[in-house]
Amino acid sequence: MSSNSESDSDSGTRNGESDIDFAQEDLEEVFNNDMEPLATEDEARVYAEQVTLEEQQQQELMRRFSGEVSLDSWCKCSFCSLNHVVNMEECRCCTEMEEFMQKVSSYSPDNSEQGNCVTEHSGFDEVCLKQWVLEVAGISLKNKN
Ligand SMILES: [Zn+2]
Ligand SMILES: [Zn+2]
Repeated sequence: MSSNSESDSDSGTRNGESDIDFAQEDLEEVFNNDMEPLATEDEARVYAEQVTLEEQQQQELMRRFSGEVSLDSWCKCSFCSLNHVVNMEECRCCTEMEEFMQKVSSYSPDNSEQGNCVTEHSGFDEVCLKQWVLEVAGISLKNKN
């Protein structure tokens, strides 16, 4: 008898019975006991930090929009321009949006030879333009009804 039997066809049924049979009252009791509605000191501090950070970002964007800080100082991709910018929210460089960059990069078949700017990534079309086109198409379809 070999103990080296590697079977992936182990269809032996585990205990098929489920014991999920909570009554609604039970659940409410659990939630009331475990979840504190008041923010803890830590949570309040984290929230305050977040607010401060956001305020700082807003001020920075305002300075960029007004030209108080020069484009060269915040654009790392060298493709940014204030020419068509109509509000301060647009005064961001693609290199500042990590998550966005990562998403685009993950769609690029070859990550080695990509430019500095997100618009030079081959994944950009895929993630942004097509997705954007679909969303816009979706909105116009929704509005028809
Ligand atoms: Zn840039
Ligand atoms: Zn860019």
